[in-house]
Amino acid sequence: MFVAGGSQYISFKVWDGCPHGVHGSALEANSPLRRSVAVFSPSERSILARSHRHCMRVTDYELYAVPPRWQFLKLETSDGRVGWGEVYTKWHFAGDSEPATKNAVDQLLHQYVLGEDPSRIEYLWQAMYRSSFYRGGPVHMSAIAGIDEALWDLKGTAAGMSVAELLGGPARDRIRTYRHVRAHGEDGVSDPAAAAAAEARDAIEAGYTAVKLVPTGGLEPIDMPATVERARDVVGAVREAIGPSVDLALDFHGRTSKAMARRLASSLEAFDPLFIEEPVTPEHDRELARLAEGTTAPIATGERLYSRWEFRPIFEADAVDIVQPDVSSAGGITETKKIADMAETYDASIAPHCPIGPLALAASLQIDAVAPNALIQEQVILDDAAAMRYVENDGVFDLTDGFLDVPDGPGLGIEIDEDRVRELAGTNLGFDRSPGHRDDGSIGER
Ligand SMILES: [Mg+2]
Repeated sequence: MFVAGGSQYISFKVWDGCPHGVHGSALEANSPLRRSVAVFSPSERSILARSHRHCMRVTDYELYAVPPRWQFLKLETSDGRVGWGEVYTKWHFAGDSEPATKNAVDQLLHQYVLGEDPSRIEYLWQAMYRSSFYRGGPVHMSAIAGIDEALWDLKGTAAGMSVAELLGGPARDRIRTYRHVRAHGEDGVSDPAAAAAAEARDAIEAGYTAVKLVPTGGLEPIDMPATVERARDVVGAVREAIGPSVDLALDFHGRTSKAMARRLASSLEAFDPLFIEEPVTPEHDRELARLAEGTTAPIATGERLYSRWEFRPIFEADAVDIVQPDVSSAGGITETKKIADMAETYDASIAPHCPIGPLALAASLQIDAVAPNALIQEQVILDDAAAMRYVENDGVFDLTDGFLDVPDGPGLGIEIDEDRVRELAGTNLGFDRSPGHRDDGSIGER
Protein backbone atom coordinates (compact mmCIF):
# COMPACT_ATOMS: atom_id res chain seq x y z
CA MET A 1 0.00 0.00 0.00
CA PHE A 2 1.26 3.52 -0.62
CA VAL A 3 -0.05 7.00 0.02
CA ALA A 4 -0.08 9.79 -2.54
CA GLY A 5 -1.91 13.10 -2.58
CA GLY A 6 -3.91 12.27 0.52
CA SER A 7 -5.34 9.05 -0.90
CA GLN A 8 -4.43 5.47 -0.12
CA TYR A 9 -3.50 3.15 -2.93
CA ILE A 10 -2.93 -0.57 -2.89
CA SER A 11 -0.53 -2.12 -5.30
CA PHE A 12 -0.96 -5.81 -6.00
CA LYS A 13 -0.26 -8.27 -8.75
CA VAL A 14 -3.26 -8.78 -10.96
CA TRP A 15 -4.35 -12.38 -11.43
CA ASP A 16 -7.41 -12.69 -13.57
CA GLY A 17 -6.01 -15.39 -15.82
CA CYS A 18 -5.82 -13.06 -18.76
CA PRO A 19 -2.40 -12.54 -20.37
CA HIS A 20 -3.58 -9.25 -21.81
CA GLY A 21 -3.65 -7.80 -18.31
CA VAL A 22 -6.41 -6.06 -16.46
CA HIS A 23 -9.22 -4.22 -18.07
CA GLY A 24 -8.97 -0.46 -18.47
CA SER A 25 -11.60 0.51 -15.93
CA ALA A 26 -9.53 -0.92 -13.10
CA LEU A 27 -6.60 1.33 -13.97
CA GLU A 28 -8.38 4.64 -13.96
CA ALA A 29 -6.10 7.23 -12.39
CA ASN A 30 -8.71 8.38 -9.87
CA SER A 31 -9.69 4.90 -8.73
CA PRO A 32 -9.31 4.62 -4.96
CA LEU A 33 -7.99 1.12 -5.50
CA ARG A 34 -5.30 1.41 -8.10
CA ARG A 35 -3.97 -1.84 -9.44
CA SER A 36 -0.51 -2.13 -10.95
CA VAL A 37 0.44 -4.93 -13.26
CA ALA A 38 3.70 -6.60 -12.42
CA VAL A 39 6.04 -7.94 -15.04
CA PHE A 40 5.40 -11.66 -15.29
CA SER A 41 8.18 -14.20 -15.02
CA PRO A 42 8.54 -16.90 -17.72
CA SER A 43 6.83 -19.51 -15.52
CA GLU A 44 3.97 -17.14 -14.82
CA ARG A 45 3.60 -16.44 -18.51
CA SER A 46 3.39 -20.19 -19.10
CA ILE A 47 0.60 -20.51 -16.57
CA LEU A 48 -1.15 -17.54 -18.09
CA ALA A 49 -0.91 -19.06 -21.54
CA ARG A 50 -2.59 -22.23 -20.26
CA SER A 51 -5.35 -20.21 -18.71
CA HIS A 52 -5.78 -18.10 -21.80
CA ARG A 53 -9.25 -19.49 -22.33
CA HIS A 54 -10.51 -17.56 -19.31
CA CYS A 55 -10.30 -14.34 -21.25
CA MET A 56 -11.83 -15.81 -24.38
CA ARG A 57 -14.83 -13.82 -25.47
CA VAL A 58 -17.63 -14.67 -27.91
CA THR A 59 -17.08 -12.22 -30.74
CA ASP A 60 -19.30 -13.32 -33.62
CA TYR A 61 -21.63 -16.01 -34.90
CA GLU A 62 -23.20 -17.38 -38.02
CA LEU A 63 -26.41 -19.39 -38.28
CA TYR A 64 -26.55 -21.53 -41.39
CA ALA A 65 -29.87 -22.94 -42.64
CA VAL A 66 -28.98 -26.08 -44.58
CA PRO A 67 -30.93 -28.88 -46.28
CA PRO A 68 -32.98 -30.80 -45.46
CA ARG A 69 -34.29 -28.51 -42.66
CA TRP A 70 -31.44 -27.98 -40.24
CA GLN A 71 -29.72 -24.98 -38.68
CA PHE A 72 -26.06 -25.11 -37.75
CA LEU A 73 -24.80 -22.39 -35.41
CA LYS A 74 -21.14 -21.38 -35.37
CA LEU A 75 -19.84 -19.27 -32.49
CA GLU A 76 -16.49 -17.51 -32.89
CA THR A 77 -14.21 -16.31 -30.11
CA SER A 78 -11.61 -13.64 -29.61
CA ASP A 79 -8.81 -16.19 -29.78
CA GLY A 80 -9.94 -17.62 -33.10
CA ARG A 81 -11.79 -20.71 -31.90
CA VAL A 82 -15.11 -21.87 -33.24
CA GLY A 83 -17.83 -23.92 -31.57
CA TRP A 84 -20.77 -25.56 -33.29
CA GLY A 85 -24.32 -26.35 -32.21
CA GLU A 86 -27.57 -27.27 -33.92
CA VAL A 87 -30.71 -25.21 -33.50
CA TYR A 88 -33.88 -27.18 -34.08
CA THR A 89 -35.81 -25.56 -36.92
CA LYS A 90 -39.10 -24.67 -35.28
CA TRP A 91 -41.95 -22.72 -36.76
CA HIS A 92 -40.74 -22.94 -40.32
CA PHE A 93 -43.32 -24.08 -42.80
CA ALA A 94 -42.74 -22.12 -46.00
CA GLY A 95 -39.59 -22.64 -48.04
CA ASP A 96 -38.47 -19.02 -48.22
CA SER A 97 -39.44 -17.91 -44.72
CA GLU A 98 -37.08 -17.71 -41.77
CA PRO A 99 -37.77 -20.06 -38.86
CA ALA A 100 -38.79 -18.46 -35.60
CA THR A 101 -35.80 -20.08 -33.92
CA LYS A 102 -33.44 -17.98 -36.08
CA ASN A 103 -34.94 -14.81 -34.71
CA ALA A 104 -34.67 -16.18 -31.16
CA VAL A 105 -31.01 -17.12 -31.65
CA ASP A 106 -30.21 -13.64 -32.99
CA GLN A 107 -31.85 -11.97 -30.01
CA LEU A 108 -30.36 -14.25 -27.35
CA LEU A 109 -26.84 -13.94 -28.71
CA HIS A 110 -26.96 -10.16 -28.99
CA GLN A 111 -28.58 -9.75 -25.57
CA TYR A 112 -26.67 -12.24 -23.46
CA VAL A 113 -23.74 -13.98 -25.17
CA LEU A 114 -21.73 -11.75 -27.52
CA GLY A 115 -18.79 -10.25 -25.61
CA GLU A 116 -19.09 -12.80 -22.80
CA ASP A 117 -16.74 -15.52 -21.59
CA PRO A 118 -18.06 -18.73 -23.25
CA SER A 119 -16.65 -20.94 -20.50
CA ARG A 120 -19.35 -19.72 -18.06
CA ILE A 121 -21.97 -21.96 -19.58
CA GLU A 122 -24.32 -22.27 -16.61
CA TYR A 123 -24.26 -18.50 -16.11
CA LEU A 124 -25.03 -17.84 -19.77
CA TRP A 125 -27.76 -20.51 -19.77
CA GLN A 126 -29.42 -18.88 -16.78
CA ALA A 127 -29.13 -15.45 -18.42
CA MET A 128 -30.73 -16.71 -21.64
CA TYR A 129 -33.49 -18.53 -19.73
CA ARG A 130 -34.36 -16.35 -16.76
CA SER A 131 -33.81 -12.96 -18.34
CA SER A 132 -36.50 -13.81 -20.85
CA PHE A 133 -39.59 -12.88 -18.88
CA TYR A 134 -41.76 -14.91 -21.29
CA ARG A 135 -39.81 -18.10 -21.27
CA GLY A 136 -39.80 -21.72 -22.31
CA GLY A 137 -41.46 -23.53 -25.18
CA PRO A 138 -40.14 -24.91 -28.45
CA VAL A 139 -38.72 -21.71 -29.96
CA HIS A 140 -36.98 -20.23 -26.94
CA MET A 141 -35.61 -23.55 -25.66
CA SER A 142 -34.38 -24.65 -29.11
CA ALA A 143 -32.52 -21.38 -29.53
CA ILE A 144 -30.93 -21.78 -26.10
CA ALA A 145 -30.14 -25.40 -27.00
CA GLY A 146 -28.12 -24.62 -30.11
CA ILE A 147 -26.19 -21.87 -28.35
CA ASP A 148 -25.55 -24.12 -25.34
CA GLU A 149 -24.20 -26.92 -27.56
CA ALA A 150 -21.84 -24.49 -29.28
CA LEU A 151 -20.62 -23.22 -25.87
CA TRP A 152 -19.90 -26.80 -24.76
CA ASP A 153 -18.12 -27.43 -28.06
CA LEU A 154 -15.96 -24.37 -27.47
CA LYS A 155 -15.19 -25.37 -23.91
CA GLY A 156 -14.24 -28.88 -24.97
CA THR A 157 -12.02 -27.82 -27.85
CA ALA A 158 -10.29 -25.25 -25.63
CA ALA A 159 -9.64 -27.94 -23.01
CA GLY A 160 -8.77 -30.65 -25.53
CA MET A 161 -11.46 -32.85 -24.02
CA SER A 162 -14.81 -34.23 -25.11
CA VAL A 163 -17.94 -32.80 -23.52
CA ALA A 164 -18.46 -36.18 -21.84
CA GLU A 165 -15.03 -35.84 -20.21
CA LEU A 166 -15.94 -32.37 -18.98
CA LEU A 167 -19.19 -33.75 -17.54
CA GLY A 168 -17.32 -36.25 -15.40
CA GLY A 169 -16.23 -38.87 -17.90
CA PRO A 170 -18.18 -41.49 -19.82
CA ALA A 171 -20.34 -44.02 -18.02
CA ARG A 172 -20.34 -46.21 -21.14
CA ASP A 173 -18.31 -46.76 -24.29
CA ARG A 174 -21.17 -46.98 -26.76
CA ILE A 175 -24.93 -46.66 -27.05
CA ARG A 176 -27.45 -48.67 -29.00
CA THR A 177 -29.41 -46.99 -31.79
CA TYR A 178 -32.34 -47.94 -34.00
CA ARG A 179 -33.55 -47.48 -37.54
CA HIS A 180 -36.99 -46.18 -38.46
CA VAL A 181 -39.14 -48.61 -40.43
CA ARG A 182 -42.12 -47.34 -42.40
CA ALA A 183 -45.43 -48.96 -41.51
CA HIS A 184 -46.73 -48.04 -44.98
CA GLY A 185 -50.19 -47.40 -43.57
CA GLU A 186 -50.82 -44.41 -45.87
CA ASP A 187 -48.48 -45.26 -48.74
CA GLY A 188 -50.89 -47.23 -50.93
CA VAL A 189 -48.63 -50.28 -50.66
CA SER A 190 -50.61 -53.43 -51.49
CA ASP A 191 -49.22 -55.45 -48.56
CA PRO A 192 -48.10 -52.98 -45.87
CA ALA A 193 -47.27 -55.71 -43.35
CA ALA A 194 -44.95 -57.54 -45.76
CA ALA A 195 -43.31 -54.27 -46.83
CA ALA A 196 -42.66 -53.23 -43.23
CA ALA A 197 -41.29 -56.68 -42.39
CA ALA A 198 -38.91 -56.46 -45.38
CA GLU A 199 -37.66 -53.05 -44.20
CA ALA A 200 -37.10 -54.42 -40.70
CA ARG A 201 -35.08 -57.35 -42.10
CA ASP A 202 -32.97 -54.84 -44.07
CA ALA A 203 -32.28 -52.99 -40.84
CA ILE A 204 -30.99 -56.13 -39.16
CA GLU A 205 -28.92 -56.86 -42.24
CA ALA A 206 -27.38 -53.39 -41.89
CA GLY A 207 -26.38 -54.15 -38.31
CA TYR A 208 -29.22 -52.71 -36.21
CA THR A 209 -30.58 -54.54 -33.19
CA ALA A 210 -33.64 -52.32 -32.81
CA VAL A 211 -36.22 -50.71 -35.09
CA LYS A 212 -39.09 -48.29 -34.56
CA LEU A 213 -42.29 -47.71 -36.47
CA VAL A 214 -45.45 -45.64 -36.28
CA PRO A 215 -48.21 -48.26 -36.47
CA THR A 216 -51.07 -46.08 -37.73
CA GLY A 217 -51.80 -43.08 -39.89
CA GLY A 218 -54.02 -40.28 -38.65
CA LEU A 219 -56.89 -41.59 -36.53
CA GLU A 220 -60.45 -40.75 -35.67
CA PRO A 221 -60.98 -40.04 -31.96
CA ILE A 222 -62.59 -43.50 -31.78
CA ASP A 223 -61.51 -45.45 -34.82
CA MET A 224 -62.71 -48.64 -36.50
CA PRO A 225 -61.73 -52.14 -35.37
CA ALA A 226 -60.19 -52.56 -38.84
CA THR A 227 -57.67 -49.78 -38.05
CA VAL A 228 -56.52 -51.60 -34.95
CA GLU A 229 -56.41 -54.83 -36.94
CA ARG A 230 -54.15 -53.25 -39.59
CA ALA A 231 -51.80 -52.02 -36.88
CA ARG A 232 -51.71 -55.53 -35.40
CA ASP A 233 -50.93 -57.00 -38.81
CA VAL A 234 -48.00 -54.65 -39.42
CA VAL A 235 -46.51 -54.89 -35.93
CA GLY A 236 -47.02 -58.66 -35.86
CA ALA A 237 -45.32 -59.10 -39.24
CA VAL A 238 -42.34 -57.03 -38.14
CA ARG A 239 -42.02 -58.91 -34.85
CA GLU A 240 -42.13 -62.20 -36.71
CA ALA A 241 -39.49 -60.99 -39.17
CA ILE A 242 -37.03 -59.78 -36.54
CA GLY A 243 -37.59 -62.40 -33.83
CA PRO A 244 -37.32 -61.90 -30.09
CA SER A 245 -33.67 -60.80 -30.06
CA VAL A 246 -34.26 -57.49 -31.82
CA ASP A 247 -36.15 -54.64 -30.19
CA LEU A 248 -39.25 -53.12 -31.72
CA ALA A 249 -40.34 -49.69 -30.53
CA LEU A 250 -43.75 -48.24 -31.39
CA ASP A 251 -44.33 -44.52 -31.80
CA PHE A 252 -48.00 -43.55 -31.52
CA HIS A 253 -46.86 -40.03 -32.47
CA GLY A 254 -49.60 -38.39 -30.44
CA ARG A 255 -52.10 -39.44 -33.10
CA THR A 256 -54.12 -41.43 -30.61
CA SER A 257 -56.82 -40.13 -28.33
CA LYS A 258 -56.62 -41.53 -24.82
CA ALA A 259 -59.29 -44.09 -25.77
CA MET A 260 -57.44 -45.23 -28.90
CA ALA A 261 -54.15 -45.26 -27.01
CA ARG A 262 -55.62 -47.70 -24.48
CA ARG A 263 -57.10 -49.87 -27.22
CA LEU A 264 -53.94 -49.94 -29.34
CA ALA A 265 -51.66 -50.50 -26.36
CA SER A 266 -53.65 -53.50 -25.18
CA SER A 267 -53.75 -54.87 -28.71
CA LEU A 268 -50.03 -54.39 -29.45
CA GLU A 269 -48.42 -55.16 -26.10
CA ALA A 270 -48.39 -58.86 -27.03
CA PHE A 271 -45.57 -58.05 -29.47
CA ASP A 272 -43.35 -56.94 -26.58
CA PRO A 273 -42.53 -53.43 -27.73
CA LEU A 274 -39.40 -51.81 -26.36
CA PHE A 275 -41.69 -48.89 -25.58
CA ILE A 276 -44.85 -47.14 -26.70
CA GLU A 277 -43.96 -43.53 -27.52
CA GLU A 278 -46.22 -40.49 -27.22
CA PRO A 279 -49.47 -42.42 -26.69
CA VAL A 280 -51.09 -39.02 -26.15
CA THR A 281 -50.08 -35.48 -27.06
CA PRO A 282 -48.31 -33.50 -24.33
CA GLU A 283 -51.53 -31.62 -23.58
CA HIS A 284 -52.89 -34.91 -22.20
CA ASP A 285 -49.83 -36.16 -20.34
CA ARG A 286 -51.93 -36.47 -17.18
CA GLU A 287 -53.40 -39.58 -18.89
CA LEU A 288 -50.02 -41.30 -19.02
CA ALA A 289 -50.14 -42.76 -15.52
CA ARG A 290 -53.48 -44.47 -16.19
CA LEU A 291 -52.19 -45.78 -19.51
CA ALA A 292 -49.06 -47.09 -17.86
CA GLU A 293 -51.13 -48.95 -15.28
CA GLY A 294 -53.21 -50.58 -18.00
CA THR A 295 -50.43 -52.07 -20.12
CA THR A 296 -47.29 -54.13 -19.73
CA ALA A 297 -45.60 -52.04 -22.44
CA PRO A 298 -43.11 -49.43 -21.17
CA ILE A 299 -44.34 -45.90 -21.82
CA ALA A 300 -42.12 -43.20 -23.33
CA THR A 301 -42.61 -39.53 -24.09
CA GLY A 302 -40.82 -36.21 -24.01
CA GLU A 303 -39.83 -34.94 -27.46
CA ARG A 304 -42.32 -32.09 -27.04
CA LEU A 305 -41.31 -31.20 -23.48
CA TYR A 306 -38.66 -28.53 -23.22
CA SER A 307 -37.32 -28.25 -19.67
CA ARG A 308 -37.00 -29.91 -16.27
CA TRP A 309 -40.12 -28.10 -15.18
CA GLU A 310 -42.17 -29.66 -17.97
CA PHE A 311 -40.84 -33.15 -17.25
CA ARG A 312 -41.42 -32.88 -13.50
CA PRO A 313 -45.18 -33.71 -13.51
CA ILE A 314 -44.75 -36.93 -15.47
CA PHE A 315 -42.00 -38.05 -13.11
CA GLU A 316 -44.05 -37.18 -10.05
CA ALA A 317 -47.03 -39.10 -11.45
CA ASP A 318 -44.76 -42.11 -12.04
CA ALA A 319 -46.23 -42.08 -15.54
CA VAL A 320 -43.28 -43.04 -17.75
CA ASP A 321 -40.50 -45.57 -17.99
CA ILE A 322 -38.49 -43.70 -20.61
CA VAL A 323 -38.17 -39.97 -21.32
CA GLN A 324 -37.11 -38.63 -24.67
CA PRO A 325 -35.80 -35.09 -24.31
CA ASP A 326 -34.39 -33.62 -27.50
CA VAL A 327 -31.01 -32.05 -26.78
CA SER A 328 -31.56 -29.47 -29.52
CA SER A 329 -35.07 -28.64 -28.27
CA ALA A 330 -34.81 -28.90 -24.50
CA GLY A 331 -32.22 -26.28 -23.62
CA GLY A 332 -29.14 -28.11 -24.89
CA ILE A 333 -26.58 -30.26 -23.11
CA THR A 334 -26.86 -28.30 -19.87
CA GLU A 335 -30.60 -28.84 -19.48
CA THR A 336 -30.80 -32.35 -20.93
CA LYS A 337 -28.17 -33.64 -18.52
CA LYS A 338 -30.30 -32.33 -15.67
CA ILE A 339 -33.43 -33.99 -17.11
CA ALA A 340 -31.48 -37.25 -17.36
CA ASP A 341 -30.44 -36.93 -13.72
CA MET A 342 -34.04 -36.28 -12.67
CA ALA A 343 -35.14 -39.34 -14.64
CA GLU A 344 -32.62 -41.53 -12.84
CA THR A 345 -34.19 -40.68 -9.49
CA TYR A 346 -37.56 -41.94 -10.77
CA ASP A 347 -36.11 -45.18 -12.23
CA ALA A 348 -36.71 -43.86 -15.73
CA SER A 349 -34.37 -44.25 -18.70
CA ILE A 350 -33.63 -41.65 -21.32
CA ALA A 351 -33.79 -42.24 -25.07
CA PRO A 352 -32.93 -38.84 -26.53
CA HIS A 353 -35.11 -37.77 -29.43
CA CYS A 354 -33.01 -36.83 -32.46
CA PRO A 355 -34.60 -36.68 -35.91
CA ILE A 356 -32.32 -33.89 -37.13
CA GLY A 357 -28.69 -33.44 -38.08
CA PRO A 358 -25.18 -34.52 -37.10
CA LEU A 359 -24.48 -31.82 -34.53
CA ALA A 360 -27.63 -32.70 -32.63
CA LEU A 361 -26.68 -36.37 -32.76
CA ALA A 362 -23.16 -35.64 -31.54
CA ALA A 363 -24.56 -33.59 -28.64
CA SER A 364 -27.00 -36.42 -27.83
CA LEU A 365 -24.17 -38.95 -27.75
CA GLN A 366 -22.27 -36.84 -25.24
CA ILE A 367 -25.31 -37.05 -22.95
CA ASP A 368 -25.70 -40.79 -23.59
CA ALA A 369 -22.06 -41.20 -22.65
CA VAL A 370 -22.45 -39.77 -19.18
CA ALA A 371 -26.05 -40.68 -18.31
CA PRO A 372 -26.07 -44.05 -16.52
CA ASN A 373 -29.75 -44.36 -17.44
CA ALA A 374 -29.39 -43.89 -21.23
CA LEU A 375 -31.27 -46.70 -23.01
CA ILE A 376 -31.02 -46.10 -26.75
CA GLN A 377 -30.34 -43.21 -29.14
CA GLU A 378 -32.60 -42.09 -31.98
CA GLN A 379 -30.99 -40.90 -35.22
CA VAL A 380 -31.98 -40.53 -38.87
CA ILE A 381 -28.63 -39.80 -40.52
CA LEU A 382 -26.56 -42.98 -40.43
CA ASP A 383 -27.96 -44.29 -43.69
CA ASP A 384 -28.17 -40.90 -45.36
CA ALA A 385 -25.11 -39.82 -47.36
CA ALA A 386 -26.69 -36.40 -47.91
CA ALA A 387 -26.75 -35.87 -44.17
CA MET A 388 -23.20 -37.02 -43.63
CA ARG A 389 -21.79 -34.65 -46.26
CA TYR A 390 -21.48 -31.93 -43.61
CA VAL A 391 -19.21 -34.06 -41.42
CA GLU A 392 -15.49 -34.33 -42.14
CA ASN A 393 -14.78 -37.19 -39.74
CA ASP A 394 -17.75 -39.20 -40.99
CA GLY A 395 -16.53 -42.50 -39.48
CA VAL A 396 -17.52 -40.95 -36.18
CA PHE A 397 -21.05 -42.35 -36.53
CA ASP A 398 -20.23 -45.86 -37.75
CA LEU A 399 -22.58 -48.60 -36.54
CA THR A 400 -21.03 -51.65 -34.87
CA ASP A 401 -23.23 -54.52 -33.65
CA GLY A 402 -26.14 -52.10 -33.35
CA PHE A 403 -24.13 -49.60 -31.31
CA LEU A 404 -22.73 -46.13 -31.96
CA ASP A 405 -19.43 -45.26 -30.31
CA VAL A 406 -19.37 -42.20 -28.11
CA PRO A 407 -17.28 -39.60 -30.01
CA ASP A 408 -14.14 -38.94 -27.96
CA GLY A 409 -12.68 -36.02 -29.90
CA PRO A 410 -12.61 -32.55 -28.34
CA GLY A 411 -15.93 -30.82 -27.75
CA LEU A 412 -18.86 -32.50 -29.47
CA GLY A 413 -16.38 -34.77 -31.24
CA ILE A 414 -17.33 -34.03 -34.82
CA GLU A 415 -15.65 -31.85 -37.39
CA ILE A 416 -17.92 -29.77 -39.60
CA ASP A 417 -17.04 -29.12 -43.25
CA GLU A 418 -17.79 -25.41 -43.22
CA ASP A 419 -17.13 -25.00 -46.94
CA ARG A 420 -19.85 -27.55 -47.63
CA VAL A 421 -22.15 -25.85 -45.13
CA ARG A 422 -21.62 -22.48 -46.83
CA GLU A 423 -22.13 -24.02 -50.26
CA LEU A 424 -25.53 -25.49 -49.35
CA ALA A 425 -26.79 -22.84 -46.94
CA GLY A 426 -30.14 -21.37 -47.86
CA THR A 427 -31.14 -23.98 -50.46
CA ASN A 428 -34.08 -26.39 -50.54
CA LEU A 429 -35.38 -25.68 -47.08
CA GLY A 430 -39.07 -26.21 -47.73
CA PHE A 431 -40.86 -28.28 -45.12
CA ASP A 432 -44.41 -29.42 -45.73
CA ARG A 433 -46.46 -29.42 -42.56
CA SER A 434 -49.95 -29.22 -43.97
CA PRO A 435 -52.94 -30.00 -41.74
CA GLY A 436 -53.95 -33.62 -41.20
CA HIS A 437 -57.53 -33.87 -42.38
CA ARG A 438 -59.92 -36.50 -41.12
CA ASP A 439 -62.56 -38.03 -43.41
CA ASP A 440 -65.11 -35.39 -42.38
CA GLY A 441 -62.75 -32.49 -43.21
CA SER A 442 -61.84 -31.61 -39.63
CA ILE A 443 -58.23 -31.35 -38.47
CA GLY A 444 -56.69 -34.24 -36.60
CA GLU A 445 -53.22 -35.10 -35.25
CA ARG A 446 -50.62 -36.38 -37.66
MG1 LIG B 1 -41.68 -39.52 -31.77
